[in-house]
Amino acid sequence: MFTEGVDVVRLNLSHGPLEDHLERLRTVRAAAEDSGREIGVLADLPGPKIRAGRFPEGGVALSAGSLVRLESGAGGSDAGTIRVDYPELLGDLMAGDRVVLGDGAISLTVVEESEGSLLARIDTGGRAQGAPGVHLSSERLRLATPTEEDLELAEAMASAGVEFIAVSFVRTASDLEPVRQVVAGRASLVAKIETSAALADLVPIVESADAIMVARGDLGIDCPLEDVPHLQKAIIRECVERGVPVITATQMLESMVTAPSPTRAEVSDVANAVFDGTDALMLSGETAIGHDPVAVVRQMASIAERSEREAGYRAWADRLGRTQRTRWDSSTDRITAALSHAASLAARDTEATAILCCTRSGRTARAMARFRPTAALIGLSPDPATVRAMSLSWGVDPIPVDTYSSTDEMVWYAVETAVRRGRVAQGETVLVLAGAPDRSSDAAADVLRIVRVD
Ligand code: PEP
Repeated sequence: MFTEGVDVVRLNLSHGPLEDHLERLRTVRAAAEDSGREIGVLADLPGPKIRAGRFPEGGVALSAGSLVRLESGAGGSDAGTIRVDYPELLGDLMAGDRVVLGDGAISLTVVEESEGSLLARIDTGGRAQGAPGVHLSSERLRLATPTEEDLELAEAMASAGVEFIAVSFVRTASDLEPVRQVVAGRASLVAKIETSAALADLVPIVESADAIMVARGDLGIDCPLEDVPHLQKAIIRECVERGVPVITATQMLESMVTAPSPTRAEVSDVANAVFDGTDALMLSGETAIGHDPVAVVRQMASIAERSEREAGYRAWADRLGRTQRTRWDSSTDRITAALSHAASLAARDTEATAILCCTRSGRTARAMARFRPTAALIGLSPDPATVRAMSLSWGVDPIPVDTYSSTDEMVWYAVETAVRRGRVAQGETVLVLAGAPDRSSDAAADVLRIVRVD
């Protein structure tokens, strides 16, 4: 999968014990080493989970139009009563609220409260099996994000050295803070946008997160399904303008869990996410439980590469160059924005083969990636964690480089490394973009050199 195009591996901590994920992390690191690729790892926290009591073996049919009772507490569920492990159920829900079971196939509307339970009508029926998750509107749910379990898992995964930790069911920017404190700079935080509450606080969330995931599965339960494509576009736009990497997730090539090739609609969905400007495309069940994960990755990579040839990035970069100057508040951000815009124009004018971004934190490479340059975009860092984390950003080819102490040394190492790795050849022109090395790590990118390799 790594040689076919995977850049980042997600460990979904909603499934299975921590020890299994730590074992998988070791497997990923070993396979990355073997393949010679810089692979990032994203640990996805479960967030607050509500479950229904287990249905009898074989499941029960819940048919549209019939009524069921929703009761709070432990114990099994059946066709007449669904038990929910959420003590605030009665207090939080009211007539007219929607409740969804499992992946959204079965939905109910609360009709009335009666005798210590809620009476609900089944709107969309289906077979309820096992102990399905119960989804209540994020505006009603009072369970805090992150949970205690999330914080324990975040500590364990940050200690194990993952590059990213994803926070589920974020509702406001402040939900990220407890995780940020636990992680203490050891990993970047991804805010999953999957609640309508998060949409109301979108800009502060994008500004406080290190990356964003458009988590279309839960988003499509919490919001009207027909809103999801438009929300995806709006979320991606906010991220790209700020240089915050954004992942588009869920059901991208879902049919390939069992089928040898995707549906035409899925192919269009992947291409459209690229046209929207997503940095990363995510596979879930397709690779976790699918019959041929390598074929899915190969298929997704070929759709993405084909789409990029049509994506009209030049117009995109020109528009971004015009708007970015007014969008940034801090002078550091403005300097980095101005320099990366200048580099995107200079790369075009000089027909540069590559833009080499020397970066300690990855920020210069992310700022440059916003312009979707046609020159190869190479992210060089002396910090191995930064190198692996750059794998999430659009188009960045991450490469480790020796530690440098002066601007001249940095430019020399960058060009020499790119030539040695076969990314750049004699006679070609490259741009080197960086923050001067003698400045603090969060200083602006303030060096742009144009180098002819000879
Ligand atoms: C989603 O809901 O789209 C999502 C990515 O979340 P998860 O797979 O963690 O449920």
